[in-house]
Amino acid sequence: MLRLPRTSQRLILRSSRRAAALPVRNWTPLRGLATPSEPYDAVVIGSGPGGYVAAIKAAQLGLKTACIEKRDTLGGTCLNVGCIPSKAMLNNSHMYHQTQHDLKRRGIDVSDVALNLPQMLKAKEEAVFGLTRGIETLFKMNKVDWIKGSASFVSPTRLSVQLNDGSQTEIEAKNVIIATGSEVAPFPGGGIQIDEEQIVSSTGALALQKVPEKMVIIGGGIIGLEMGSVWSRLGAQVTVVEFLGGIGGAGIDEEIAKQFQRILTKQGMKFMLNTKVLSAEKRDGKVHVKTEAAKGGQETTLDADVVLVSVGRVPVTQGLGLENIGVEVDSKGRIVIDDQFNTSVQGVKCIGDVTFGPMLAHKAEEEGIAAVEYIKTGHGHVNYHAIPSVVYTHPEVAWVGKTEQELKKAGIEYKVGKFPFQANSRAKTNFDTEGQVKFIAEKETDRILGVHIIGPNAGEMIGEATLALEYGASSEDVARTTHAHPTLSEAFKEAAMAAYQKPIHC
Ligand SMILES: Cc1cc2nc3c(=O)[nH]c(=O)nc-3n(C[C@H](O)[C@H](O)[C@H](O)COP(=O)(O)OP(=O)(O)OC[C@H]3O[C@@H](n4cnc5c(N)ncnc54)[C@H](O)[C@@H]3O)c2cc1C
Repeated sequence: MLRLPRTSQRLILRSSRRAAALPVRNWTPLRGLATPSEPYDAVVIGSGPGGYVAAIKAAQLGLKTACIEKRDTLGGTCLNVGCIPSKAMLNNSHMYHQTQHDLKRRGIDVSDVALNLPQMLKAKEEAVFGLTRGIETLFKMNKVDWIKGSASFVSPTRLSVQLNDGSQTEIEAKNVIIATGSEVAPFPGGGIQIDEEQIVSSTGALALQKVPEKMVIIGGGIIGLEMGSVWSRLGAQVTVVEFLGGIGGAGIDEEIAKQFQRILTKQGMKFMLNTKVLSAEKRDGKVHVKTEAAKGGQETTLDADVVLVSVGRVPVTQGLGLENIGVEVDSKGRIVIDDQFNTSVQGVKCIGDVTFGPMLAHKAEEEGIAAVEYIKTGHGHVNYHAIPSVVYTHPEVAWVGKTEQELKKAGIEYKVGKFPFQANSRAKTNFDTEGQVKFIAEKETDRILGVHIIGPNAGEMIGEATLALEYGASSEDVARTTHAHPTLSEAFKEAAMAAYQKPIHC
């Protein structure tokens, strides 16, 4: 039997505190929306991947549903300023870089290759526009009312909405799901002010109008590395300054992180690890970034045209009126929930970035579905041991489950099977051989505990690992499953063979 400790932070139990009954203000019903005599069954605050998925699922399950979103477009951080625009820039900058540096040896001669940055930014906007409009269509198809405005609690069942057209209304709901997401974390201590031009957050980094000559990235987590890759491919000299001793952020396997750093360094990115940024000052058209060794001493100044501050994200709860109803928030600003997404106030649930767990779109989506299922049926399912993470650089890095470090710490005995893409026929055919697949299985039972991939299409391949983990598969199960030839996924199977017995091709 698997003896993993239950690490999910969801075990934090909700307090028994209940909101005191609050006086309800007079309100104006919106034309076409539910009236006080017919409250919504479910109202979702926020239309990110958590909120919009929850709203659609609720409507599909027969609940009269509204979603309140203050942004002019649906889709939240993910569709507007996160996953989608960043992946558009990553894909297109990769194509530009490949065209410049990689096509010749494949027998494709191209001349006059030039970057048309305005068009690349336009292509990104096109992707965002299409997908955000797509959610609007899905809302219409599923009869979800989109209330355009900013919501705050008057009571657990009544929300005041400051509408985007300047007017105000109140709506009543039997169930409320908070899905207000997260926003860029300010630089600790507030010493560096983001202006979204020279000192940018990820939002500004997705919209630079000119390729900076020199770019400094504060923070070597996923967003910093993805944005660094984009601008490095387009011609910027990128230096990543990271406080910790490794890149990739939380959850990445140390061995994979080291390999990842070596590959990105070969691609031209520079890294200053164990280094603390002290300040960033704008002077003479440049930004001067002062750093010191994390342990103290040894100061350096870096000059940059653009500095990206990517030191994390923080939950969005301000303006929600949580204090009006007594919703509990922890010391990091996250809304406290139990393992059924209930906050400390009955009838109010919470999902996505604004509560515990990894800040990932697919995690928010799963929670959206499960939270609604709890409302409708009393049961739902999210497996927090099987949430994949992907870094969409080239090669991609993807992982699911436990790292070696986590297992060592937990005292769980394990075995490791690895297979390099250098020995995979498809990767060799494609001249794309950097990286490896690494399987970690429990020593006694062979049950898969974690899979870590760095290599081409790792983000797609991790789906198979996630399924294996979800179904409690062993490495032998994967090793005995036929994988098509020639595919990159054969490396996945061979890594499982390496964990179980021995691979064939290495
Ligand atoms: C640059 C970048 C790249 C990313 N790439 C990836 C990726 O590749 N894969 C991945 O899984 N994740 C990625 N993420 C993270 C991902 O975007 C988030 O995890 C995800 O969007 C969280 O979804 P959510 O529904 O919890 O909240 P959000 O998407 O943040 O949506 C919350 C919504 O609530 C609205 N809102 C807030 N308060 C109110 C209020 N009072 N009234 C009405 N509306 C309100 C906000 O306007 C917002 O639209 C990325 C993030 C960034 C910044």
